[in-house]
Amino acid sequence: MKCITLVFDDGPQDPICEMADKIKKFGWRSGFAVIGQNINDETLPMLRYVIDNGFQLVSHGQKHLHMEKIPTREEIEEEIYLPIKTIKEKLNYQMTMTRLPYLSENTGALQVAKDLGLPVLGWGMENGKDWDPSVTPEMITEAVLDTVCDGAVGCLHVRTNTCKALDVILPELKDRGFCVVTPEELFKRKGITPPVGVPIHNINDFLT
Ligand SMILES: [Zn+2]
Repeated sequence: MKCITLVFDDGPQDPICEMADKIKKFGWRSGFAVIGQNINDETLPMLRYVIDNGFQLVSHGQKHLHMEKIPTREEIEEEIYLPIKTIKEKLNYQMTMTRLPYLSENTGALQVAKDLGLPVLGWGMENGKDWDPSVTPEMITEAVLDTVCDGAVGCLHVRTNTCKALDVILPELKDRGFCVVTPEELFKRKGITPPVGVPIHNINDFLT
């Protein structure tokens, strides 16, 4: 079976729970990339909900900074690691992967993630720039369905129009014989140890 993972960035915020519910309806799971400074008393229950439903959380930076603009290694480490620490403390959940803000491939940041033992999730298919509110659900749907392929790590966002696009994307993926799983599960199914130090766009790139 063809399998992909989808990781939705910039949570926790609405409509994260609705997106999780739509995915779960197919018996599928996905990942959510969490910005540390968005974690508060109002959003913590959303994260609790998605974790309890089998979804995976990954670090998306404390302040969603451009890695290139962070002056020191220590501050890069803080940016990547702080959300992991917070989620461990608040929800007793261990995040084991990261997606760098702006899909950075900054060498210093990749090295820090490697030293922390964190695989860096990239993007193995298009998203139609779904972070932009002027992009319609139809544009998002077309971008995803035109570029989806086995093993892809999808990068989408927790946004209203992305949530709407799932109504067409998910049934179509099912019709085409795909399944959608968490990043951890995708590696498990393919029998691949998640690599560190390089961005992971399609996990089939790491088949030996
Ligand atoms: Zn982001």
